[in-house]
Amino acid sequence: MEKLESMKEFAADLDARDSLGQFRDRFVIPPGRNYMDGNSLGLPPKASLEGVQRVLEEWKVLNIDGWLEGRIPWFTMPEEMGRRMAPLVGALPGEVVMSGSTTSNLHSLVSTFYRPEGKRRRILADELNFPSDLYALASEIRLKGGDPARDLVLAGSRDGGTLVEDDLIALMDETVSVVLLPSVLYRSGQLLDMERLTRAAHEKGIAIGFDCAHSAGSVPHRLHEWGVDFAFWCSYKHLNGGPGSPAFLFLNERHFDLEPGLAGWFGYVKEKQFDMALGFEHARSAGGWQLGTPCVLSAATLEAALTIQEEATIGRIREKSLQLTDFLIDLVDRFLSEEPYGYSVATPRDHGRRGGHLAIEHPREAWRICCALKARGIIPDFRPSRVIRVAPVALYNTFAEVWEVADALKGIIDRREYEKFPVERSAVS
Ligand SMILES: *Cc1c(COP(=O)(O)O)cnc(C)c1O
Repeated sequence: MEKLESMKEFAADLDARDSLGQFRDRFVIPPGRNYMDGNSLGLPPKASLEGVQRVLEEWKVLNIDGWLEGRIPWFTMPEEMGRRMAPLVGALPGEVVMSGSTTSNLHSLVSTFYRPEGKRRRILADELNFPSDLYALASEIRLKGGDPARDLVLAGSRDGGTLVEDDLIALMDETVSVVLLPSVLYRSGQLLDMERLTRAAHEKGIAIGFDCAHSAGSVPHRLHEWGVDFAFWCSYKHLNGGPGSPAFLFLNERHFDLEPGLAGWFGYVKEKQFDMALGFEHARSAGGWQLGTPCVLSAATLEAALTIQEEATIGRIREKSLQLTDFLIDLVDRFLSEEPYGYSVATPRDHGRRGGHLAIEHPREAWRICCALKARGIIPDFRPSRVIRVAPVALYNTFAEVWEVADALKGIIDRREYEKFPVERSAVS
C-alpha cells in the first residue's frame, strides 16, 4: 500500500509548478511556523507595514491636511478602497465602500432592508450562522418592535454542518422580508449557491444579503450580476488587512435611492459634506451607507493587501486554493480516515460547494489534537465541538505545508501526543 511519506515528493512537485509560488515572498512568513489560519487572520503583506509607516508620516508632516493631501486622501479613502475592492467581488466601482466592521455593516444594511409590514415581518437566517450575525439580527427585529422568538427564522441543517439550498428556498415565503446567509459557512467551509438563492428570494419578493467574511479574497463572486441586494465582509481574513482592518459593504446600485437605515455624516454627498447642512442627503452610492470618520490608521495596510489580490487575480487564487484543499482531502481520505486515526472531512467535496478552508473532524479529541498541532508549530483553529479548521491559503501556503499537516495529524495519533494537553479550552481559539 502507498505510504503518506511517498506523497511528500508529489507535494514538492506541485510547489515547483505553482504559478502563484512567487507571492509567498510578498508576505512576512513566521519562521518555524506552518500557518494554516489565514481564514481567521491573514498574514501581513510586507508592503502593508510600509503603508502604516506612510500614514504615520502623513499624520506627522501634513497634520490636518492629510484629509485631502495624503497620498490616498484620508477623506475619500473609503471610496477609493471600495473602488479597488469592487472587481474582486464582481461589483461596480460605486457599489462597494470600506466601512466599519462586518457586524456594524450588517446593522447598517439590514436596518435599511428590514421594514416589517403586514404579514412580511420575518428575517430568514440559518442555525449554522456565525453567532454574532444572529445576535445582530435579533436586535434589529427588537428595534423594529418585533420579537426574535417569532420573527427570526433559522433554517436547520440536516447533518449539523451544511445547509441544503432547497431547504432554505422552501422557507422563503410571503412572511419573510429579508434573507441573510453566509457565502461560506465559517465552520464547515461549505459555499452556498448565492446566484440560485438570490433568484429564489427575488421570485418571492424578498431582499437577500450575504455575509462574505469567509469568501472575500478566496472565492470569486459576481454580486452585481447575480443581483444580490447587499453584502458585507471583513478584510482581516483572506484579504490580509491585519487585526482590526476595516470591513467593506456592497449595495446593489438599484438600491442607491433607499434611505440608509443608519445615517451618519460620512454618508453625506461627498462634495457637500462640509456644508454642515442639518438635513441629511446621502451619497447615491455604497458610500452613502458610511457612518463616521474612517479608521485611517487601521486601513493603512489595505492598499498593499489589495494590490496583491489584484496582481494574483481572484481566478488564479481560487484555482490554487481548490488544488490545496483537494490535496488535503485526498490525504485525509487515503491515509487518515481509518482507525486508529478516525479523521474525516466535513466540507463538501464538490468544488462548487467548497470555500477556502476545510473542516477536518475528529470524533473525540479535536481540541487536544489542535493543541498538539500548535506544539508542532502548525497553526489551525478549533471550532467546537470536533472541528479542526485548516485553511491553506493560495497566496502564501505551499503544498509541502499541506503535506506536513497530514503528516502531523498522523504522528499526533501514532505517538499519542494529544494526551499531554488538558481537555479544557482557552478563551481565544
Ligand atoms: C469573522 C466573521 C465576522 C466578524 O465580525 P466582526 O464585526 O469583524 O468582528 C462576522 N461574521 C462572520 C460570518 C465571520 O466569519
